[in-house]
Amino acid sequence: MTDVKLGLVGLGVMGSNLALNIVDNGFPLAVYNRRMDVTEQFMQDAGPLAGRLHATESPEALVARLTAPRAIIMMVTAGAAVDSVIASLLPHLDPGDIIIDAGNADFNNTRRREKELADQGVRFVGMGVSGGAEGARNGPSIMVGGAPEAYARIQDAIEAIAADYEGESCAAHLGPDGAGHFVKTVHNGIEYADMQIIAEAYGLMRSAGKTPDGMAKVFQDWNKGALKSYLIEITAEVLAAKDPGTDQPMVDVILDRAGQKGTGRWTLIEALKLGQSASTIEAAVGARSWSSQKELRVQGETILDKATDHAPNLSDNDLEKALLAARIIAYAQGFSLLAEASDHFAWSLDLARTAEIWRAGCIIRAALLDDISDAFRGEMQGGNLMFAPSFAARMAETVPSLRKVVAEAAMAGQPSPAFASALSYFDTMHTGRGTAALIQGQRDFFGEHGFERVDREGDGFHGPWVKQPG
Ligand code: NDP
Repeated sequence: MTDVKLGLVGLGVMGSNLALNIVDNGFPLAVYNRRMDVTEQFMQDAGPLAGRLHATESPEALVARLTAPRAIIMMVTAGAAVDSVIASLLPHLDPGDIIIDAGNADFNNTRRREKELADQGVRFVGMGVSGGAEGARNGPSIMVGGAPEAYARIQDAIEAIAADYEGESCAAHLGPDGAGHFVKTVHNGIEYADMQIIAEAYGLMRSAGKTPDGMAKVFQDWNKGALKSYLIEITAEVLAAKDPGTDQPMVDVILDRAGQKGTGRWTLIEALKLGQSASTIEAAVGARSWSSQKELRVQGETILDKATDHAPNLSDNDLEKALLAARIIAYAQGFSLLAEASDHFAWSLDLARTAEIWRAGCIIRAALLDDISDAFRGEMQGGNLMFAPSFAARMAETVPSLRKVVAEAAMAGQPSPAFASALSYFDTMHTGRGTAALIQGQRDFFGEHGFERVDREGDGFHGPWVKQPG
């Protein structure tokens, strides 16, 4: 009987593709899915690869089919299903076995699960996988967290199945416990922001009268320059597509109500807990929520006077530069959040390596990531990506266009929350003396909260509105 060390639970969209990728790379794999009909169909569809796959009928049978020390990848719905699968495997496992959660877990759960399993002698690895179904099958970007010794045991297989960027694997062990899932969450947050700014650019072009076909050409052009990325590429394809039923542009027949599964929201929650604000990601998550209030917006159209008939007057070049500026800012905020979490949880995250493993396989893969990893490897000054000399120069080149875009959008009554929050963040970051002195004065006035002074050490100073003791 073939010696099989690797198992996989969950043959849904991601799990089935990841399983085929694993065996395609020469690693025999035992698989189990809760619904057996799904397993049977998967084995039928696997064609010649079925020879390296070993279907099993229960968690117990899966464990029995594997030679210890075992490594079992879970690719199931995030949340309670993960705990339920762990509970079904645990009684059959031996100390030293590894469970790998490859779904989109909340990293707080990953930290909890790692501790709980450690008590039982079982290793737990939290592994973020990005790239959708296509990535899972042909090479995703893989962000791993957990004990380095546990990763060392599965490293060969994980690096082999990951995307390849100029000969380097887009898989890396980034830190202990929840580090991998945290990085994946922030990856998704940046993805939300990038998708939103692209959608805002589309909205501005549409308001100015451009057709979907015309916009598709613009996005195709942009994909040849500094904006080159998977999301710009697929935007051009979505805009060019026609609905086979009506021959209308596909984008015109899609209802403008966007869904979300939670990773964008998790990014915000964690940012706020760490005393940060990833405002472009906040804007993107908020815009999806507003999009879901379709009935309200339709009602608002008949009630609210937008008090402008100005059409946005922007060149493609201005929009391109504004997109680049806002994209850099979204990355700057995402990496600041990673740096803060790394300090807080003592993860020692390698930000350059993180940027490197996002260069292929994942949804936010973009030409810009090469420059970001270079900045973190070399020229980075202070704590913000925008302060690296090459990025400061790019901001100087692109922010004037971002200003124009935000101003034109405002004058035209065209919502642009992500562009606007990107610009506000930039403007805050170059303002040495901000406006919080007044906030502190107000807080002291109504709550005697005290403040620091610019001319003396210490805190707890009060204004003349507070009755001084004595
Ligand atoms: P699917 O809905 O396609 O598959 C879900 C899988 O989970 C099925 O195999 C299902 O089994 C199994 N499952 C659900 N509940 C349980 C349970 N209680 N016990 C045992 N098995 C259960 O999901 P995806 O493949 O899309 O997603 C899997 C994970 O990957 C999620 O965490 C998702 O967020 C993440 N992810 C998804 C991406 C995507 O593009 N789809 C991209 C990156 C990550 P059954 O067939 O029996 O119902």
